[in-house]
Amino acid sequence: MLNSIKGLALTFMSTLRGLRKPVTHQYPNSGSLLGKRAVPTPVQDRFMGFPALTWDQEVGEPFCTSCMVCIRNCPTQCMTATMKDNPLNAEGKSSRRKIVDQFEINLNRCILCGICVEVCNFDAIVMSHEHEMSTYQRNGDRVDLPALLTIGKRYQYKTGWQPVATKVKKAPAPQPVAAPAEGEAKG
Ligand code: SF4
Ligand code: SF4
Repeated sequence: MLNSIKGLALTFMSTLRGLRKPVTHQYPNSGSLLGKRAVPTPVQDRFMGFPALTWDQEVGEPFCTSCMVCIRNCPTQCMTATMKDNPLNAEGKSSRRKIVDQFEINLNRCILCGICVEVCNFDAIVMSHEHEMSTYQRNGDRVDLPALLTIGKRYQYKTGWQPVATKVKKAPAPQPVAAPAEGEAKG
């Protein structure tokens, strides 16, 4: 009899504990049993999500010149890019003679190693905080230039990211990047 009461009390206490805010973060929804909310999974500042391209707010173009260094060093060969003559260079607004024309990363094949970021001489690519991009299609995460730039801008805005090694142009301190519009691209 006493053991039965102890068991009931234990079960009751366990149920009450389940109503409190849990210590662990339930994915994808968080909160107590009484109120679950869909909130983005929090990540630390140093978290390395999917790679993304950065935006030079001052000139109004990507930092990427499509030099192919990251592509040659990517261990999974999941990146492709093409370059073009930079129209802003012809107008005297940018010192980048070449600029990225198309860029694609197959994020399904990316192993988040960060080598592309390490080898880039232009601060043109970062490991963003983006990590929730699962799809039901085999090639559903082949991400093009506009989407990569949108993810990059979101990362720049969120973290206050600034280029550290860019020597492409003589310029004063770079301007902070404005927040990308809501729903501008999947990310
Ligand atoms: S991201 Fe950097 S290394 Fe890769 S193509 Fe662009 S400029 Fe070159
Ligand atoms: S993080 Fe690694 S695998 Fe992913 S694109 Fe960069 S170099 Fe390739």
